[in-house]
This record gives sequence, structure tokens and C-alpha cells, in this order.
Amino acid sequence: MKRLYTLLAAVASSGVVIVAQQGGPDHPSVTVHGQVYTPRSILARNMGTNEDQTTQFPPHKIIGNIYYVGTKTLSSFLIVTPQGNILLDSTYERNVPVIQKSVSDLGFKFSDIKILLGNHAHGDHQEGDAMVKQLTGAQVVAMAEDVDTLKAIKPGGKEHPIDRIIHDGDTVSLGGTTLTAHLTAGHTPGCTTWTTKVRDAGKDYDVVFHCSYRAQGTITPALADAFNRTFKVARALPCDVPLGDHGAQYNMQEKYAKLKPGAPNPFIDKANCNLETDIQEAMFKATLAEQQAAKTQ
Ligand SMILES: [Zn+2]
Repeated sequence: MKRLYTLLAAVASSGVVIVAQQGGPDHPSVTVHGQVYTPRSILARNMGTNEDQTTQFPPHKIIGNIYYVGTKTLSSFLIVTPQGNILLDSTYERNVPVIQKSVSDLGFKFSDIKILLGNHAHGDHQEGDAMVKQLTGAQVVAMAEDVDTLKAIKPGGKEHPIDRIIHDGDTVSLGGTTLTAHLTAGHTPGCTTWTTKVRDAGKDYDVVFHCSYRAQGTITPALADAFNRTFKVARALPCDVPLGDHGAQYNMQEKYAKLKPGAPNPFIDKANCNLETDIQEAMFKATLAEQQAAKTQ
């Protein structure tokens, strides 16, 4: 994990050395909708403990044909169709048996996974791709801009499988379900936000699988442009059900606790579709401001 930690030293004419600390895991801190966030708190919220990252979270139906099959902190979604299933995010390779168990606990077959999608080329979301491919023969789909980074993820020396390279706006279809890939670059060059429509109890809903919008390290002008575009794209997506590559990005655990037969589906949460975008954009702006202040000192 790279930490943003820049030491800036300026030698004044008197010869006094002024050292200003910029960044660091507790700077900047931003308040969004009454809640305080720092880079450290966001990372802690996303990842939890090592155990949280590898412990099965009760698998559950989210809405329509979409199910959660991930761990306590790393999301993995199963999309079930009459012609086989789609898996979004394999997470760490060591979690593949956990995901397998969740799929079978829900009454589905792991071997019915025909397509494997990813949110972004980081190990905690896509390290298990080669193993899922080995176990299911699924077609592995990757956003063009993430291909190089994905190819560098080789657990145990295994080549990272890539069967279909997609671009912004491309779609993936299986058994009547279509997912659209939106390039939301920044966190990685090919960070992909997936959208789909589901029908549940006679109504249609727009589901958004947000990518991570967290800026890491120094924000170059090119990266700033990418993020500014990404925040706009994310906000413009039709959304009734916001999801994310870490459960904490959509308050999964709190929502899961509210799942009760007869009660309104807690995952339908239009009011919070942009909550995670608000948090990350505030953090991005504060980080940029801090970087610029450091430059002009
Ligand atoms: Zn990441």
C-alpha cells in the first residue's frame, strides 16, 4: 500500500529549515454529510481486518437476479440468468473457495459462471481471476485501459486470463441481462462502473456497481482530469440501487441487517446513490488543494 506522505522542506534566506508535512494517512480530513473522513479512515472502512477480507459474509439476494457472494469487506456479485451466470469480482485468490461456498449456499452452481467481470485491476478485486477461469471456463472480460495492470497480477505465476477486451460504453449480455461498462478512470486507468436494469416484484430498477473513486498518491494534472470526468459520469448514471466494490461504500452491513420479509428492500436507496462519490470527490478536492498549497509555499 502506497501512502501519500510528502515532506516539503524550504530553506528560508535566514538559513532556517522549515519542514511542512503534507499528506499522511490522517490528512486531509473532510466532512461529508456530517461524517468525518480521512484517507486512513476510508481505507480502514473499505478493507477491515485481514480476517474481514477473507471471511464469508452471509450470501444474500440484493435485488432481482443480483446476489452478494463476497466477504465481509470485499464485494463479489453473482448475476443469475437462465443461460448461466455472471460473476463480478473474484477478489483475492484465497477467497475463491469462499465465493464458491457462497454461490452454492444460495443454491447455485459455481460451474454455471459463464462470464467473469471486474471492477478494477487491484489484487483485492481481481487476483482470483485465473482460478475462477480454471474452475469454470468463464470468459474473462477486461476494460482496455486496465489490461496492462491486470496482466501484472499473477498469483503463483499464473498468467492473468483475458478473453475479451472492452471499451467505454460496451455491453456484456447473457440470458436476457445486459450490463454496460462505464470507464470511470482514476483509481486505476480502467476502473469500470457497471450498470444494469433489474425487474423485481413487477418494477424496474437501475443498479450501479460503482468502481472505487479513491485517489491514491500524488494527483497529476492528467489524473485530476480523469477524476473530474469520472465524478461527472458517476453522478449522471440512472440509479436506484447503489453498490460498490467494497461493501462499506454502500453500507452493506447496515442494509443487510434491515433485510426482512415484507419490509422495503433496503438496497433500493436512491437518496444515497451519490454518497460515495460525494465522499471521494471531497477527499480528492482537499488533497488537490493541499498539494497546491505545498507547491506555493
Ligand atoms: Zn483498488
